[in-house]
Parts: sequence; structure tokens; C-alpha cells
Amino acid sequence: MPKEAVELAGNTIRPGERGFGYLHVGTLSARTEVRIPYQVINGAKEGPILCLEATLQGWEPMGAEIIRRVTVQLDPQELSGTIYCLPFSQPLGVDFGGSIESAGQRISPADHLDLNQVWPGAKTNAWLSQQQAYVLWNEVISRCEYIVDFHDGTGACNELPVAFPHAFPDEPPYLVGGAVEGVGDGEKPARVLDETYTSEMNAKILELARAFGSSVIWWRKNPLNPRMLSAQCAINGIVPLVVEAGGGGIIDESIDQAAECTMNVLKHLGMIAGSPVPPERQIQVENYVVYRSLMGGFYLKEPDADIGATVTKGQVLGKVVDPVTSEVVETCTSPVNGIVVSSRIRMPINPGGYIAHIADTDTITWER
Ligand SMILES: [Zn+2]
Repeated sequence: MPKEAVELAGNTIRPGERGFGYLHVGTLSARTEVRIPYQVINGAKEGPILCLEATLQGWEPMGAEIIRRVTVQLDPQELSGTIYCLPFSQPLGVDFGGSIESAGQRISPADHLDLNQVWPGAKTNAWLSQQQAYVLWNEVISRCEYIVDFHDGTGACNELPVAFPHAFPDEPPYLVGGAVEGVGDGEKPARVLDETYTSEMNAKILELARAFGSSVIWWRKNPLNPRMLSAQCAINGIVPLVVEAGGGGIIDESIDQAAECTMNVLKHLGMIAGSPVPPERQIQVENYVVYRSLMGGFYLKEPDADIGATVTKGQVLGKVVDPVTSEVVETCTSPVNGIVVSSRIRMPINPGGYIAHIADTDTITWER
């Protein structure tokens, strides 16, 4: 049987072709249309169905550039399977941001909701973000077998590519918060997750995370929040991989490294030729620390605490300085022995702003 054409939002994309278009969500009061751009690459050959999705939060737009760098290299005639790309899931947060953490908005400026907290969305009696999630879920994501959900270090921080697989715990409860909404929508009966299902899904998530080939994997096993996209996917048989890469609104090596990692996923799934290329050293840690400032000001980083640097517990990462008086208002030290994965590059910083993410190398559970 020949491979089928993809029908999406009025477009027909035949096997061996690529198509672009928009998912319509709604129309704002002054008639501005809310629409979500997509790309479909319908490979000539049969294979997995993969979604590359980015920018659930508008302040993390760099995944869009990673997806572009991956897909521009692909020849639909040579591809096995189908790739659905959603580089800007939250266009409003990108286009109307600018005031929070230096670039974009985490939340939608239309309803002040976080698009990563409203899954699987709703069609009626729903906020705009819920309607948006409903369109993304029903028109694209629910068709897929795998999804890579790209986040970045926000407009404030740069970040090495890192895989953030979130797995089910070994025993119930598998879910927290909004579990009822998450597993049944009133039409379909709630699905019961059993240990066989969760452990099989965990194994697939782990395999995908390691294949991605980032130097750091943060592996967590605790109850999933079904309001988040990755959890909703894990509940519904779609293997999710959350990754973070790049940030600060800049294009640098982290973007190319993340594109390479994404190509590893395509190779791992057999969608393109070749084998994944692992990094020189790849570690999986159980503890991952996010250091946030207590004080506002300008953060002056130490030269030996940049992304990729190995730091020791207590080592000074940098200082927050009062930009008027030059007083050091906070000396930021690493709470663990580890590797700096993400670091602040944009100023100024408010209390609670991200300074650094550090992978705790005293909690390595696997490495190669
Ligand atoms: Zn994010």
C-alpha cells in the first residue's frame, strides 16, 4: 500500500513533499487572527511519526531555529516517516513579549496562562490558551508517536543542549494535580495506567533521551502533571522528550549542537540514514540545581563559570552588583559539585531571576 498524503488545515502534503501552513485558533477583538504556523515533511517512505514542537513559552523561542536548522537539511524523498513541526506553539508570547526576563513572555499576553499548563486543552468554555492547546493536540500532536518539546534558557540565559526526560514513578500515584482532567475528557473513559504501561513508556523515554546525545541528561521519576504537554503525551502513548538548548535570544554553538542532537533522534528512529553520534562524555544525573538570585541588579559572571564549566561546591559563579553604588549585593556560589549547563547572559536581573543551572555530578547514575 503506498504511503498516504497528509491532510492538515486545508493542505494536502503528498509523500516525498514538504508543506507549510497555519492552524487557525481564533480571532482577537480587533480581528487579529491567532494562528499557529506549521511545517509537515511527509517522507517518501514509511516510518515513525515525529513531532518537533517548540515555544510553548514565548520567552523560549530558540527551539524554532533548531527545528529550522534540522528540517532544512532533510530531503522528503529520503525521509522514512513523517515530521510535523510546530516551531511557534505560542506565537502571542513571542510577538507581544519584551518585558519579562529580557525577551518574550512565559505566559500568553491574551489570557495570562502558561501554554504548558493547559493540556490537552478544551474547545468550549475555554480560555484562548486552552483553545490553542486543543487545536495543537487534536490537529497535530495526537497523530504522532514521538515528540521532542524544545525549551531554552529563556531570554535571560544561554544553555547547553540538555535532555529533561520526566518518567513515571515506579508505583502509583503516577499523576499529580489535574489528574482527572488529564486522563479523561468526558467523552472518552478515563484510562487506567498500570505498571506495565508506565515502565514500558519509561524505557522508551529513556532510550530517546540517551539517543538525543546531549552531554547531560536529567532523569526524574516523580508523578507527572497531566496539565503539561509532555505528561499528556506520556499518558496517551506518545513518547515525549523535553529538551532545553540555547537561549538569551542569541545564535551560537548551542543551537548547532542541539540541531545535531535532533538529527541523532531522527537517526535513532530510523527516519534518516546513519547512527547517532554520542558526545565525548554523556552523563545522567538525578539532581539538577537551578540557582536563582535573591537580589536584583547586574550579574557579573566569573570567567571560569561559563556553560560547560566544571565547578565545585562553594565556588563563586558570579556576583550581583548594585548598578548604582557598585555594592556587591549577592555572591552566588555553586550549591553542588557539577557542570554549569545554563548561565545568565542578559541584564539586568530581578530577584528570582535565573543565574545558573548546574548538573550535580555527585548524583551521576549512568554515563558513557
Ligand atoms: Zn520552558
